[in-house]
Amino acid sequence: MSDAESKQIERMKSILGTQKSAFKADRQRSLENRKADLAKIAKLCRDNVDAICEAINQDFSCRAKQESVLGEIIFVINDAEHTAKHLKQWMKPKKVSVPLNLKPGKAYIRRDPVGVAGIVAPWNYPFQLALAPLVAALGAGCRAMLKPSEYTPATSELIKTLIGQHFDEDQVAVITGGPAVGQAFTQLKFDHLFYTGSTQVGRLVAKAAAENLVPVTLELGGKSPAIITPSYPVESAAKSITWGKLFNSGQTCVAPDYVLAPKGREDEVASALVAVAQAQFEDVATDDSYSAIVSDRHYQRLHDMIEEARAAGATVLQPEHDAAEAKARRKIPPTVVLNLPADSKLLEEEIFGPVLPVLGYETLDQATDYVSDRDHPLALYVYTTDKAEADRVLGATLSGGVGVNINLLHLSIPDLPFGGIGASGQGAYHGETGFEVFSHNRSVFHTGKWHPSRLLAPPYGKMYENITKRQLK
Ligand code: NAD
Repeated sequence: MSDAESKQIERMKSILGTQKSAFKADRQRSLENRKADLAKIAKLCRDNVDAICEAINQDFSCRAKQESVLGEIIFVINDAEHTAKHLKQWMKPKKVSVPLNLKPGKAYIRRDPVGVAGIVAPWNYPFQLALAPLVAALGAGCRAMLKPSEYTPATSELIKTLIGQHFDEDQVAVITGGPAVGQAFTQLKFDHLFYTGSTQVGRLVAKAAAENLVPVTLELGGKSPAIITPSYPVESAAKSITWGKLFNSGQTCVAPDYVLAPKGREDEVASALVAVAQAQFEDVATDDSYSAIVSDRHYQRLHDMIEEARAAGATVLQPEHDAAEAKARRKIPPTVVLNLPADSKLLEEEIFGPVLPVLGYETLDQATDYVSDRDHPLALYVYTTDKAEADRVLGATLSGGVGVNINLLHLSIPDLPFGGIGASGQGAYHGETGFEVFSHNRSVFHTGKWHPSRLLAPPYGKMYENITKRQLK
């Protein structure tokens, strides 16, 4: 561990103490103050569009500005403003009915802020995935410490600077550093730990949180399938799937990971996917709207997966591009792979890049079996013109979320909870669900002078008998 990392670990321990004290002094942050916090987040996004895009571009070596504007900045602004708009309603205690035998009295659920949140973010949407959980935490009236990814140092530094300009450290603090800092961070006794990243590290985070019984949300990854049914026009499916797969060059947790196509039509589907990619980018190597892979290590991993498939006899299709230039700029061209052996890495690991295997299925049951025999994916996409067919696919599988005839964009609907299930995650956020993550549903039963437990207390008499007899009938 470097000196800088040791310092960060000491610093974060002390900040946690300071934030806990500050929370104690302002336990029920007012609606007005929470709205002001959210307005600051929206403002820091609006005022720094170029700086944010440039930092992410520097980290990726090439990140399409359009993708950063849409997938990072606008997303966070919408999230902050949606939260501010609905906050008053979400903060209201929820009245529940009181059974007759417990009347009179009022029962309700308070939504109390849990305290200090720890938020760990990955590199693929380094701004959005740090700030969207922060929006939820601030909306809920919590304080927060963020630990962004070490793979995006320029963005992490910028987040630290912008947060420092708008928030006191006892309300929001940013801790930078790599896995060692991440590990120490997740061992802290937060009131909630919110982690976004790989399933592998998610397991370690869950263990660390369990040591302190810290409640944890895990936003993880997985292999999200896109099922094309025979009824759906291949060209339309290819346009939709290619868009979702190539956004941020496939470095998206909910990108379609593989395609299940009707048997005998795999070639047609593969050709359509390559044709759409070719039409979108004249040459991915030199086009700045096609993002690079985040690091040499991640580039090499994708490159090796493709070569392993090729060596095993798979068919690898790519649009025309300058291969030497693509390599020099750390770009993996859009790649469609057919005839893959079942044990190839491309079918076993989350791909997380612009590489798309196409597999054939004989019957829809076979396609849903393929999905349900594996870990539950973070998203499932089905392309069909028949609603009953869509329902059949949903009924036979389980996934974090679903897109019917669309992909990716389900996560931009604020009122849809976003999260995985099993290996793709636990818990969810966005909109009110995010507010709930950082709030405690606190049950309150408030009676007046008369209290019904008197009827149930010893010495047991006729009243007790009457009440229990009625309930056992
Ligand atoms: P990662 O798990 O390697 O790293 C994520 C964060 O965890 C980083 O900040 C890192 O420093 C920290 N970390 C690393 N080792 C740690 C440890 N031992 N203890 C605690 N923290 C540690 O993930 P990544 O490679 O940055 O992100 C890619 C993965 O994230 C993919 O699997 C993707 O599907 C998933 N992802 C999921 C979502 C979602 O919302 N479900 C969103 C984006 C990415």
